[in-house]
Amino acid sequence: MARLLEGKPLAEKIKEEIKHDVLALKRAPVLASIQATDNPGALAYIKSQKKTAESLGIEYQLHDLGKDVAEEGLTELIQKLNQDKAIDGIIIQMPLPAAIDYKKISQYISPGKDIEGMHPANIGKILFGKAKLVPCTAAAAMELLISSGVDLYGREVVVVGHSEIVGKPLSLLLLDRFATTTVCHIGTSKAGKLEEHVKRAEVLIVAVGKAGLIKGEWIKEGAIVIDVGINRVADKIVGDVEFEEAEKRASFITPVPGGVGPLTVTMLMRNLVQAAK
Ligand code: NAD
Repeated sequence: MARLLEGKPLAEKIKEEIKHDVLALKRAPVLASIQATDNPGALAYIKSQKKTAESLGIEYQLHDLGKDVAEEGLTELIQKLNQDKAIDGIIIQMPLPAAIDYKKISQYISPGKDIEGMHPANIGKILFGKAKLVPCTAAAAMELLISSGVDLYGREVVVVGHSEIVGKPLSLLLLDRFATTTVCHIGTSKAGKLEEHVKRAEVLIVAVGKAGLIKGEWIKEGAIVIDVGINRVADKIVGDVEFEEAEKRASFITPVPGGVGPLTVTMLMRNLVQAAK
């Protein structure tokens, strides 16, 4: 039976380090949060960010532009926040109004204040092994994996999902640790090859958003499984991996919920402190 890789205890440990770093700064670092939505999920996420920030001695400054804001309104605010020396980091809350392209807008944030790690300059630093601001979900998955104590050198690692926020940055971080890294995606599934890749994974990381995509019986004996997926199925939240069967075969596995999720906001705060430094 696998050991659980739980996000909460690890988040608590990292929060202690963040508190220490905030004290060393000798001032409260400031996180500017830009909101252009009234989506209940987003509002709940903002509330949880604020609570976490304040518990760590970080000032959380919310800029609510309303859900009808135009692109210029957003870019003007970002430029103002970029120039404001009192602001250490900026986050844009999702979703944005339908007419606004997040990828385009997020590039207005100056790379040094880009605590979501989505600016091309920060993504580029991951490529060169010099990342300071890593996308939070990829960083959270990596922290959980490292907490298992695995030595990634030469390991067969399979990442399923190749999005900009998870799969792609994660695969670069894994390569940096000399893991033999395979990245699977929709094309792999369409070619009927997902099962064969997953079956040989010593470490499996899945970030797709499809409940039950990874069959429990595909998991290699003793594998480490990090499930990033979040899916609502009949009023329950589940990951992308069939947990019950996978748990019998894996050596470590993340629960969903309770694995990667609780760590993500902590990674955002760690990036903020990094930006403040
Ligand atoms: P995305 O939609 O941007 O990317 C999905 C990826 O899955 C793509 O690479 C796509 O090619 C691949 N894919 C789709 N169908 C597939 C299939 N049948 N077989 C193999 N690959 C397939 O998604 P994302 O934003 O990276 O999010 C992925 C999941 O992670 C979602 O469930 C999301 O809710 C979750 N997520 C969790 C957190 C967290 O904090 N725990 C944060 C972000 C995202």
